[in-house]
Formats: sequence, C-alpha cells, structure tokens
Amino acid sequence: MRIYFSVDLEGICGVVDVEHTRRDGREHDRARKWMVQEVNAAVEGALKAGAEKIVVNDSHGTMRNLLPEELHPEAELIIGSPKPMSMLEGLSKDFDGTFFIGYHARSGAFGVLSHTYSGRVVADLKVNGRSVGEPGLNGLVSNFYGVPVALISGDQFAVGEALDLFPGVVGVITKEAIGRYVAKCPSPEKAKKMIEEGASKAVNLLRSGEIKPIQVPSPIEIQLKFLNPGMADLAQILPGSERIDPLTLRYVAKNMLEAYKAIRAMIYLGYSSIK
Ligand SMILES: [Zn+2]
Repeated sequence: MRIYFSVDLEGICGVVDVEHTRRDGREHDRARKWMVQEVNAAVEGALKAGAEKIVVNDSHGTMRNLLPEELHPEAELIIGSPKPMSMLEGLSKDFDGTFFIGYHARSGAFGVLSHTYSGRVVADLKVNGRSVGEPGLNGLVSNFYGVPVALISGDQFAVGEALDLFPGVVGVITKEAIGRYVAKCPSPEKAKKMIEEGASKAVNLLRSGEIKPIQVPSPIEIQLKFLNPGMADLAQILPGSERIDPLTLRYVAKNMLEAYKAIRAMIYLGYSSIK
C-alpha cells in the first residue's frame, strides 16, 4: 500500500492566524513543528495498518515548512518550490491513496484562513458549476489519476468539502472554526491521536475496497473568479480562456489534469498583475 501525502498548514490543530502561516510570522516556527508532528502521526497510523511507502509533499507557501530532521524516518519528503504540480507534485497512478493533512476551506467559505491556492487572487473557483477549494480541486486531480482521497484533516469546513465530494473518505476534524482567525482546538496530543487512528482506518478502508476512486467527468468546465478585473485582464491571455464577466474567466479542459494546469496558470497570471 503506497500513500501520497499533501500537507498544508492552515488546517493544523492550533493554527489560526497569519502569524502561524506566513514565513516571517512570529509564531511560524512553532506552527511548523505542529505540522510535522501531525504528519508523523498520520505516517505512524498508516504504517501500523500496513502501508509500505509514504511520500510527503510539503504544500504550503514556500513548500519548505516541514522540518526534515523531525520527519518520520519511514517517510520521503518533497520539499521546495516551484513545482509544476504544486500541492500534488509527485502524485502518480502508482499510489493507492491520498492523504490531505492540514487542509483548509475554500475561498469565500467559512473556515480558518479559508482561500483557494492564492488568497490574494481567487474569489471563487467553480469546477463543472460547483465551487471547490483545495480539498475538492486536488481531490479531483488525485481521482483523475485513479488514486482516491482516503483521509483529510483540518477544520470542519475543509473536512466537510471532502466528505461531500469523495464518498468514504476518513475526515479528522482537528479544530472547530469559530471565525476566520479563531478556532476551538483539542490538545495537540488528542489531535495527533485522532489523526493516527484515522490514518490506520483509511489504509484499512483502501485495502478492503471501501474507499475507491470516483469517476472524474470530462470535459471539465472551469469558472475562475478573480478579486479584481485587472487580474482577469492579464489571465485571459491564456489561450482558450474566455472572459464571461469583469471578474470571471471560463475555460473548458479536456480532462481534470488539463483543468488543474489551466487554473494554476490563470492564478499565476492574475497574481502577476497585482500592483
Ligand atoms: Zn492551502
């Protein structure tokens, strides 16, 4: 059993503020420790249930958050950026399941530090008419590879998005969001225990076939709504994109992988217009 981990920071137990998530935040180094500890709990749970290979992709900001010297010795780490596949770098059809650790809710939704890829660019992302965040978008790409999402941890809104889209996924709620920068958190010890147990359960459900990949539709229609029209002005140079209103570009991709690349290209283009 081979498990792919995509690890973000906003959904880690105890993380509620940009002081935790920004590189220069005063509490960032503490949050990085909580992050690697939750990853290690999930690795331990997966190994106990019989996983043989674990690849961990650091998927937050600089993508150099997880402390290699503190990572579980049985895990391999993808560290650094830029990566062509970003939060999904290293994922392939050779994995049996995907774990999303420390995930957060989508842009515009309730949830701690909610955003979709770039909080400075994306107002809303629709895939085939449905608003999705990183749990939904990344999960659809994973399923496109035939790799089901088996575990997600984060606040109740991040977990809820995955539960809506991916039947059978094990959800571990590491904190109850009360506001954008406020949450009620269990102790980190309790959160790690829940994650370890959830990881074991997820591997067992993968093995028994109770978690299976979903059929991802094609073609895929994307609607990416930006925070201001200047971003769409620049992002519409992406061939095939269509401006449907001042803030929104539409793009029809032949499959989910092309959709993911187009979304990220449009986000980078939009970002480059910021003055
Ligand atoms: Zn994120």
